[in-house]
Amino acid sequence: MKSFISCMFVVTTMLSQLVMADQVNLYSARKEALIKPLLDEFTQQTGISVNLVTGKADSLITRLKSEGKYSPADLLLTTDVGRLYRAKQQGLTQTISVSEAMMALPNNFRDEQGHWLGLSLHARPLMVSVDSVDAQTIANLEDLISPQWKGRVCMRSSSNIYNQSMVASLIAQLGESAAQEWVNGLVKNFARPPQGGDRDQIKAVAAGLCDVAIANTYYLAGMLSSKDETTQQQAKKINVIWPNQTGRGVHTNISGVALAKNAPNKDAATKLIDFLLSKESQLWYTTTNHEYPVLTDIAWSEILQSFGTFKAEQIRLGQLGELNAIAVQMMDRAGWK
Ligand code: FE
Repeated sequence: MKSFISCMFVVTTMLSQLVMADQVNLYSARKEALIKPLLDEFTQQTGISVNLVTGKADSLITRLKSEGKYSPADLLLTTDVGRLYRAKQQGLTQTISVSEAMMALPNNFRDEQGHWLGLSLHARPLMVSVDSVDAQTIANLEDLISPQWKGRVCMRSSSNIYNQSMVASLIAQLGESAAQEWVNGLVKNFARPPQGGDRDQIKAVAAGLCDVAIANTYYLAGMLSSKDETTQQQAKKINVIWPNQTGRGVHTNISGVALAKNAPNKDAATKLIDFLLSKESQLWYTTTNHEYPVLTDIAWSEILQSFGTFKAEQIRLGQLGELNAIAVQMMDRAGWK
């Protein structure tokens, strides 16, 4: 009997420790390799364990929705503000209480109601062939629709949110009719039907299948730092051109995080957000992933520095989500597959 009681005591203690143990449940649309080392470091420093669930952003949002108030999710991590907006609009998020770390974040990288915030910045410039394009001949996205680029443009599919957000940014800044005109003109200049991801567009330019593409810089940086010689050589055939530098600036987006509506571990989740905004994490984002830090006092990776500095567009990031549906319709109308 005595041993039974002590046994029960041990089990109860273990169970209560399990319940008490600090943990964060993270739904992440980022590839595990792009976030796991940071999470391990967080656990080491704080003792808070992170349960990582990875998947496609839209599936994770659907999952959050179907789990409802029983969802174990604390945080949703995605690579595009359009998705964070979608989660917020569906009522799946809540206000993150502002910490000191978050105060250092430029205003534009935070949702007005504080439901999401940016953790890293992505820029989407023009990428041209060093062999066939004189960098002086192109200065703005608008140039891409001129007849001289006919059959020379490679773009990924309109089903990809990066391009949807880029078009949404044009709608926000140029208005619907000018944006539609640009999309129509761009599609007419495609070298081939849209296919593959950002890296595939860069590779197509390197292979001479087209002369210009639009892609996020971390893809090119990743290729330049690749251990694979062929990949590195492909990347060396690309010049980065920062468009619209005398005007509105280049299109940018964020990877970011939202606090789930029914987060069971809110405090631990906030600590993780603070950690991801720490200098240490921001440095990791830029040196390992070649993403731009969201904090201004962090030095960029050497490869990012080699692409040069740029003027970024200054729109409210939430607009990229708000205008997403119109952008998608616009791309459909233009026949952007
Ligand atoms: Fe990406």
